[in-house]
Amino acid sequence: MRCPGLKPGGGNKHQKNGAGERFIFFLCITRKQAYVAMKTHNFSAGPAILPEEVLRKSAQAVLDFNDSGLSLLEISHRSKGFEDVMDKARQLVRDLLQLDDRYEVLFLQGGASTQFYMTALNLLTPNGFGAYVNTGTWASLAIGEAQKVGQVQVLASSESDQFRHIPKGYDIPSQADYLHVTSNNTIYGTQMHAYPKSPVPLVCDMSSDIFSRPIQANDFGLIYAGAQKNMGPAGVTMVIVDKNLLGKTGRNLPTMLDYKVHASKESMFNTPPVFPIYVTMLTMQWLKDNGGLSWIGKVNEIKAATFYNALDANPCFKGTVATEDRSWMNATFLLTQPELEKEFEAMLKETGISGLKGHRSVGGYRASMYNALPLESVKVLVNVMDDFAQKFA
Ligand code: PMP
Repeated sequence: MRCPGLKPGGGNKHQKNGAGERFIFFLCITRKQAYVAMKTHNFSAGPAILPEEVLRKSAQAVLDFNDSGLSLLEISHRSKGFEDVMDKARQLVRDLLQLDDRYEVLFLQGGASTQFYMTALNLLTPNGFGAYVNTGTWASLAIGEAQKVGQVQVLASSESDQFRHIPKGYDIPSQADYLHVTSNNTIYGTQMHAYPKSPVPLVCDMSSDIFSRPIQANDFGLIYAGAQKNMGPAGVTMVIVDKNLLGKTGRNLPTMLDYKVHASKESMFNTPPVFPIYVTMLTMQWLKDNGGLSWIGKVNEIKAATFYNALDANPCFKGTVATEDRSWMNATFLLTQPELEKEFEAMLKETGISGLKGHRSVGGYRASMYNALPLESVKVLVNVMDDFAQKFA
């Protein structure tokens, strides 16, 4: 036994706990291994909550992959078993987003942060420029990296408003090589609820709202997303790129930063991050089996409405961003009496609510409601906030 003292078992046990409910499940694994995981209401901004069945299957594959007697972590990425995983993962992206054939689907390393530079390196021509919209920390970093490659024009920014809204109504120059936007601003809690109609290829950082609602994916030139919010664990970044956009910069690109290289080798130029890709594949399968993006879009809309309606009705809390641009994924809010922080946090702890602290750069609170977070957890949070108001309003 790798985890002595922990109880093996099966199924779910629900334990009532004060104002809310804490879920404890016992996870039983074959191959003589067993361990227990305790599940709280996980509002973490990322790495973030994953579907329980994905965690179970992933744990099983680490111990014994497809009844092979070997761990997923112990086999070659060139084995048939893993090649099937990669093929399935690529196909699931195509299915979920209903992608045209002109797109390449890549699974890369280096996080979304590498994509800030890599997108510019692959798309920004020596005499051209990249157009950017600055909606927060991640967009600013993308701009900074692109400036290391070539010319950049920032078309609009909400910086002077502390990034509390999404700029709209700006002109997009048709000479730009591309327009880069960030669909969901994880730190500030804003989200684009409509994408700009762009005369140039639209490049989008969807790290924190990929697969959270239906989109017209074929309208984009390139989409990138780190896995660790809605897709899987940290360690893999998905890139979807229209292959017609590649090979136009005249640059002799570093091999590992060249989309064409990864596309030609079907994301197997070098050893891919096998475990994150496997978990991502399982999460996409879970999504597809449950009804795909139209299903999850409805679920996420209900979760967001449940939270924001309660927030607006509660005198002890206030939202931090423009109502029309509120994110369905990351709801940011403040206590109206910050001196009651300790009392609020004690109630969160007692109810098994975790990960609610705002990003260290902005403070306050942030309820991240990614795909795998059940509506039940949102209701528990809302109840705690109501109980708090009963006591302190
Ligand atoms: N873009 C967005 C919108 C993000 O939320 C994050 C990470 N939270 C990043 C980019 C950076 O991702 P990574 O840590 O994978 O480099």
